[in-house]
Amino acid sequence: EVILSIKDLTAEVDGNSILKGVNLEIKAGEIHAIMGPNGSGKSTLSKLLAGHPAYKVKGGEVLYKGKNLFDLEPEERSRSGIFLAFQYPLEIPGVSNLDFLRVAYNAKRQHLGEEELDAFDFDDLVRERLDVVKMDPAFLNRSVNEGFSGGEKKRNEILQMALLEPTLAILDETDSGLDIDALKIVSNGVNQLTNPENAVLLITHYQRLLDYIVPDYVHVMQGGRILTTGDKDLALELEEKGYDWLQPAGVA
Ligand code: ADP
Ligand code: MG
Ligand code: MG
Repeated sequence: EVILSIKDLTAEVDGNSILKGVNLEIKAGEIHAIMGPNGSGKSTLSKLLAGHPAYKVKGGEVLYKGKNLFDLEPEERSRSGIFLAFQYPLEIPGVSNLDFLRVAYNAKRQHLGEEELDAFDFDDLVRERLDVVKMDPAFLNRSVNEGFSGGEKKRNEILQMALLEPTLAILDETDSGLDIDALKIVSNGVNQLTNPENAVLLITHYQRLLDYIVPDYVHVMQGGRILTTGDKDLALELEEKGYDWLQPAGVA
C-alpha cells in the first residue's frame, strides 16, 4: 500500500525556488532516509508536507493514501495520521505538556470517530507511553518544551509520536543535538513505533542515526532534487566520500 506519493514537486519560499522536482514513493512498512547537505531543501520538503503556510507549491502532486494532500488543512493532515517532528521543536510557554498532548491526542480520536479520553484515563496512557522514550513524568507538568534541553525536546517529539501513532512520521533531524545515550533512546522509541501499517521518513545529516534506525531506502537530496537513491550502504558511502561526487555536471 502506497502511503505517500510525490511526483515532480516544485515549491518556493518568498519567491525563491527551493524544491525543483522531487519524486518519492513511500509504502506501508518502509523506512526512508533523506540525507543531503545544508540548504538542499530537506526541511522545506517536510514543512510543505505538514502544511507550513510559508511554503508555496508551484507544481507537481502529492498523494497521501491516494488523496491530494494539498486539499487537507494542516490540522486535518495531522489528524489523518501525518506527524512531523520539527528540527527546532516549538516552545509553548503557559501550556502544560500534559494538556498539549491530551488536546492533540483527543483531536485525533475525534477524527477517528472515537470518544475522547478523560483527564484520568489520558494520564494513565501518557505515563505508559513515557516509557517509550524513558522520560521523567516531571516533564508532563512543565510548559511545552520551555527550558527543555535539545535532547529533551527531541524525546518529547517522540513521546508525541508514541501517543499519536502516526501513519506517516516525518522526523527532521531528530538526531541533531543528541548525545549517544539519547540517540539510542530516541532511536529505540522510533523502532518500537514502526509496524507494517505505517512508514517513517527520516531526515538526517549523519549516517550515525541509521546504525540505530535502519532504513529500507536512502535518498540524497541536493539543490532541491533527489539526486540518487540507494540502501543503507549509500549512507556509509556518503559518510566516507561526502556529497560532491554525486553532483552531476552543470547543476548548482
Ligand atoms: P535543509 O533542511 O536541507 O538544510 P532547507 O529546506 O531548510 O534546507 O532550506 C533550503 C533552502 O531554502 C535554503 O537555501 C534556505 O536558505 C532556503 N529557505 C528555507 N526557508 C526559507 C525562508 N523562509 N525564506 C527564504 N529562504 C528560505
Ligand atoms: Mg533542515
Ligand atoms: Mg519496523
